Amino acid sequence: MKKAYLTIDDSPSTGFEEKLSFLLDKKIPAIWFCNGCKLKERSVVNAIKTNHIIGNHGFSHKHFSEMTYDEAVKEILDTDGLIEAAYKEVCVKRPIKLFRFPYGDTGGDLLTERLQVFLEKEGFVSGNFEHITYDWWFERVDVFWTFACNDWIFKSGPNEDFKDLNDILRFIEEPNHELGGSLVRGDSNEIICLHDHDANTEQFFKIIEKIISVGVEFISP
Ligand SMILES: [Zn+2]
Repeated sequence: MKKAYLTIDDSPSTGFEEKLSFLLDKKIPAIWFCNGCKLKERSVVNAIKTNHIIGNHGFSHKHFSEMTYDEAVKEILDTDGLIEAAYKEVCVKRPIKLFRFPYGDTGGDLLTERLQVFLEKEGFVSGNFEHITYDWWFERVDVFWTFACNDWIFKSGPNEDFKDLNDILRFIEEPNHELGGSLVRGDSNEIICLHDHDANTEQFFKIIEKIISVGVEFISP
C-alpha cells in the first residue's frame, strides 16, 4: 500500500473550513501552505487546534524569480509573522517551520542559493518526509512535492492535458508519468500537492476520495 503526505497550497480560501472538516472526518492529516494575503482575511486556528500544520507559501503568491532578494525575504517574513500569531492565538507551540515556493519557483539563478541559506537561517526545515526514493528527489530547505494533481485548472482554466475533473481522476490511477511520482506504482512514499482555492471544494473531495480508492494511505508528516 502506498503512503502519502498531503500538502495543500494557496490557503486559506473561502472553502477552507469545509475542506478541513472533510479531512478531519476522514482522519487525514495535512500541511496547509498559506499565503499571507489570505491569512489576513481568514483564520486557520481550527486547523492548528486539530493538529494540522500551517506552512508558509509567501505573501502574495508571486514568482520569486521576479523579485529582488529584499522583496523575497519580506514575502517570507510577513507571512511567517501571521503564522506565528495564529499559533500564539490558540497557545499551541508551532511544531515545525515549513516553506513552499509558489509555482515551485525557487528564485531563479540569482536568488535560489541565497534563499535556501536564508530559509535555513530562519529555522525552516525540509520536513520529516520519510522514504521518498525517486532518483530525481533531493533534499532542500523548502518543501517540494512528488505528485501534483493538476487541480489548479479549477482556478486558472483547463489546459491541453487537463480539461476537467475526469482527466485528473484518470491521472491519479495512471501508472506511467513522464515526470513526478505515481500513486499506483513503486514503493516510494509521496508528497501530494493539492490546492485550496475558492471554487474547488467539491472537486477537492472527489480527488481525495479517488486517491483513497487507489489504495493510498495518508500519513502524518
Ligand atoms: Zn501556490
